[in-house]
Amino acid sequence: MDYTTIAQWLNEARNIVILTGAGMSTESGIPDFRSTEGRWRNIDPLTVATTDAYAMNYDVFHDFYCARIAALDGVTPHIGHEIIAKWQRTRQAFIATQNVDRLHQLAGAAQVADLHGTIRTVRCGRCEQEAALQAFIEKETCTCGGTLRPNVVLFGERLPAGAWDTTMQSIQKADLVVVIGTSLRVYPVNQLPTMTNGKCIYINLQCEDDVAASYTFDAILTGKAGDILQGIDQALQLK
Ligand code: NAD
Repeated sequence: MDYTTIAQWLNEARNIVILTGAGMSTESGIPDFRSTEGRWRNIDPLTVATTDAYAMNYDVFHDFYCARIAALDGVTPHIGHEIIAKWQRTRQAFIATQNVDRLHQLAGAAQVADLHGTIRTVRCGRCEQEAALQAFIEKETCTCGGTLRPNVVLFGERLPAGAWDTTMQSIQKADLVVVIGTSLRVYPVNQLPTMTNGKCIYINLQCEDDVAASYTFDAILTGKAGDILQGIDQALQLK
């Protein structure tokens, strides 16, 4: 599929949704979970980013999130994040992400549905009181005695209702959904691309056979998100 056709779809669409995953941030230097280059390939996040690990294996849980927080040091959005923020301003695109790094917001996106929360803020897991990030890093406990945790959605927890509901509503009325940098393995976000009656585009380094078979994408663009978004944006400017 050529960029000119995608640019035409973007120009024709009245309601655009952009749904991103960890592959959106790898070009900023944050590893994803599943690529072989992913920093977490020796640690299965399914065993650490969980309610069970938080409750019963706090030291491992804490180490894992401290490493992920440290990995954000000096990280900045890339051109792809900037293009998406521009499309939000100029085309009223709705942005929803599984990423917990807030790079879309740092690139200037005004509103983002953080479907999996963020690791940039923390709270007490017992009384829900917000706390300083540094307190979590230093393994302080809350005044109530509870342990601190990032404001992420752990495996085994529900997604934030507000972010989920507005994303579903936006997808249901969308005429174009652009899915970027996600393996589509994590439920329930992987259901979202099936909920649209509009066109759906998948931008990812590769498209696994089972993913291609499970979704009815109107276009699959394989390659780096930053390159592909630049290609589409340049085609938009030629119009
Ligand atoms: P994933 O790791 O399962 O899949 C990422 C996908 O992106 C892979 O298919 C990979 O091939 C592709 N990819 C990697 N680099 C790319 C690039 N430059 N351009 C295009 N595609 C690229 O990630 P997921 O589907 O988002 O699900 C994993 C879970 O992990 C999510 O819950 C997410 O919250 C969390 N996570 C978040 C971050 C982050 O916030 N940056 C990082 C790692 C994991």
